[in-house]
Amino acid sequence: MTPVSLIPIPLRIAALTQERNRLLEYPIERLSGIIKEIGFRCTSCAKCCTQVFNGHVFLLDRDVTVVKAIDPAALEPAPAPEFCDQNGIFYVSGYALRTQDDNDGSCWFLENGRCRIYNSRLTICRIYPYMLHREPDENGDVDWRQFSGLDQHGEYGTLLPEDESLDLARETKEYENAFLTQEIKFLEFMQDYFPGHNLRHVQKIYDNQMRRFTRGDEIIVRVYYNGLLEECRIRK
Ligand code: SF4
Repeated sequence: MTPVSLIPIPLRIAALTQERNRLLEYPIERLSGIIKEIGFRCTSCAKCCTQVFNGHVFLLDRDVTVVKAIDPAALEPAPAPEFCDQNGIFYVSGYALRTQDDNDGSCWFLENGRCRIYNSRLTICRIYPYMLHREPDENGDVDWRQFSGLDQHGEYGTLLPEDESLDLARETKEYENAFLTQEIKFLEFMQDYFPGHNLRHVQKIYDNQMRRFTRGDEIIVRVYYNGLLEECRIRK
């Protein structure tokens, strides 16, 4: 499969725009109906706040602003940067939440099984485990996915009031729209930034730098945030 960083940027923007159009056409009542049917209730097991359960927590720009005000040390560049230039510097579309150095890879803000910033928790944390995007299943069939980790956490079949499931559906759709929009804006930015600074993506250097990172060397990652790039130095 072609690494995503090798697909021309205009094609990627077109694909994401098409994805966003599909998302916007998805009837809110349908998602609300699915949410109501599942009847999920959080039991505060905190599984979803660990890396064992979720690879990483990607942050929208507005969430980054919240985290910066609470504890900037909780931020790290999202994994799998999209580009690496000829000088070995990576570029990624946003930040993720740092994890603690424990066996489960607990979220930076998880303390004794509770979220330390629950009242200001971030957009993805508010809507999780609901989602609304298309991805391949285990057979490779691409379809809409509306729920993450069915039967692996929480309780099911509880009665959700109509207005609650409708609110959850709206918030979920709004998050997915904001996520795709952030990705599109990042790619549009990079489309100008690379030629404007005599830079280009070099896959061989990307792979070499990733190997260095895996071995424990420091790398530089420029993170897209609020229309600009912020430079971070990170080590595994
Ligand atoms: S910010 Fe809070 S709710 Fe979100 S993953 Fe971390 S501990 Fe869990």
